[in-house]
Amino acid sequence: MKCSKCGSKAIYHQKYSGLYLCKECFIKDVERKVRKSLGKKIIKNNMKIGVGLSGGKDSVVMTYILNKFFETIPNSEIVVFFVDEGIKGFREVARKFVIEFCERYDIKYKIIPLKEELGITLDDIVKIAREKNITLNPCSFCGVMRRKLLNKYALKEGCNYLAIGHNLDDISQAIMMNYIDGSIEKLVRLGKDAEHPLLVKRIRPLKYIPEEEVQLYADLVGLKYQKEPCPYSSISYRAEISEIIDKLEDSHPGTRHSIVSGFEKLIKHLDIKMEVKTCKICGEPSSGDICKVCLWMEKLGLRV
Ligand code: SF4
Ligand code: ZN
Ligand code: ZN
Repeated sequence: MKCSKCGSKAIYHQKYSGLYLCKECFIKDVERKVRKSLGKKIIKNNMKIGVGLSGGKDSVVMTYILNKFFETIPNSEIVVFFVDEGIKGFREVARKFVIEFCERYDIKYKIIPLKEELGITLDDIVKIAREKNITLNPCSFCGVMRRKLLNKYALKEGCNYLAIGHNLDDISQAIMMNYIDGSIEKLVRLGKDAEHPLLVKRIRPLKYIPEEEVQLYADLVGLKYQKEPCPYSSISYRAEISEIIDKLEDSHPGTRHSIVSGFEKLIKHLDIKMEVKTCKICGEPSSGDICKVCLWMEKLGLRV
């Protein structure tokens, strides 16, 4: 099949648009969509973008593209933040990928070990919870803790925005999960950031790029990333939602895009004010009087 844009040999069929794309046109298509989703308000002079890089394919592709955009813009830069939760046999590999990647592309980076932040690793937290018979989903703790640390360091570095590597599949799954649960507050948080001087605005440059295209982009450009899954990742409710959305996408190409764009229209009409407080223990922004990380630390009998 020939490329619908230039007539060269196509390597990819983009079902939701009906286009066949060659390698060069596919790469351009992904980068054009990322550029469009960011817009001229973000891709401009005097911008400092904090980037959460985990070493997986999504965050590696996001960082690579952002670096490509910003390296030619005067007085602008990206700064990578890598949170090392202390997951034995997994995060050491990710750390190696992140350091090699940042050094290769000359990107400033900061490693944030959880051990230095909370005095304990995620492995130890999981072990203590098991010993004390406390139900703890490692991902729930890990997610809130990573979010908190990324914000803290992006703020410290004076970043204008914090980029998160969620792709179209991740976002459409999160939207559907929250619709089903009726979690209006979580939906609002997903769609718009709470305004607070201690919160750095988050951006999701890959929000219109499907997971399979992120993967293909990484492979075509020759990016290295961590492929093994985290030992704590498990078959979850999200995986079931993902299966349903994938089936719908297959029979109705474009479903994921409409979930996200429909949600973006809807969110404009949800007039819910999100209160942001300051955690009484750690002083970081929080939706309650005590942030979720400090609540967990208290529950586990660990000092913050
Ligand atoms: Fe953290 Fe869960 Fe991701 Fe592992 S799978 S890095 S525990 S959020
Ligand atoms: Zn082409
Ligand atoms: Zn706290």
